[in-house]
Order: sequence, then structure tokens, then C-alpha cells
Amino acid sequence: MATIKLEIVSPRRGEIFSQDIDMLIVRSTAGELGILPKHARLLTELIPHVGRIKANGTENQIAISGGFMEVTPDLITILADAAELPDNIDVDRAKAAYTRAQDRITAFKNSPKESDIDIKRAEAALARAKARLLVKNVPVS
Ligand code: ATP
Repeated sequence: MATIKLEIVSPRRGEIFSQDIDMLIVRSTAGELGILPKHARLLTELIPHVGRIKANGTENQIAISGGFMEVTPDLITILADAAELPDNIDVDRAKAAYTRAQDRITAFKNSPKESDIDIKRAEAALARAKARLLVKNVPVS
């Protein structure tokens, strides 16, 4: 069966994933995308989500905190803001980030000088933490 190489890198951690895979499912600003070998060229922005990597008959999840994805027929490159495989996720840290972000959103919404930028930032932090918790099978609201 044909495969496509997937490389995921981040500025802080360099190479996070590099392997030939069967299929990748990610969430872009335009919606969910399934990438198979020989996919048409594509450049898109990713939002925080749980990416699904299918390879050798199994599926693995990865928390992706947004970034950019370039697809060519034989190679998928993700330049992630941050990305973590399940073994590298600190659940307590993600839970703390999740609660912190929720508290911030509530405080900003109740504040008379609520700022859209602050709310957007807290919502992005919430989405990153949520993706990490979902990868670790921790239920989130
Ligand atoms: P925090 O508030 O806990 O720092 P964050 O979402 O602001 O969370 P990021 O800026 O997305 O963190 O990531 C900074 C670095 O820390 C990245 O290398 C990312 O992989 C790592 N990281 C963030 N949260 C976790 C976590 N829960 N477990 C493991 N690594 C994490």
C-alpha cells in the first residue's frame, strides 16, 4: 500500500514525528482534512486540535497547537506552534492550563474593559489544553 511521509516539527522541540504513514486527519482553519498518499499540493493553517495518524494498521493521536501544514504528493510537513505525542503530555500541566484559561475567559467576560485580544488568547490556550487532555483521554467540557 502506498504511504506518505509525515514530518512534524516545532520551533522549541525540532523534530517531533517523522515516519511513513497511510493517512493523516487534521483540522485546518477551513475544516477537517484527510490526507492520503499522492494528495494534491496544499498549504494551510492548522488550529489547535487532536491530529490522527494512521500507519501500519493502527491509529495514533497527537495534540497539535496550530501552525502550518504543507502537503506535496509524497510529503506532509507540519510546522507546529507546539505538538505532543501522548507519552510527552503532562496531564496535570494541561489540566492547570485548562482551568486557568477557563477562569480568564470568565473574568474577561465579566469585566467592563473586556478585550477581544485577551479573550482570543485565553480561548486559544483553552483549545491547546483541551487537545492535550483529549489525547490523554481526560474528559473535558
Ligand atoms: P502552559 O500554560 O502550560 O505553558 P501553553 O499551551 O501555553 O501551556 P505552549 O506555549 O503551547 O504551552 O507550549 C510551550 C511548550 O511547552 C511546547 O514545547 C509544548 O510542547 C510544551 N507543553 C505545553 N503544555 C504541555 C503539557 N501539558 N505537556 C507537555 N508539554 C507541554
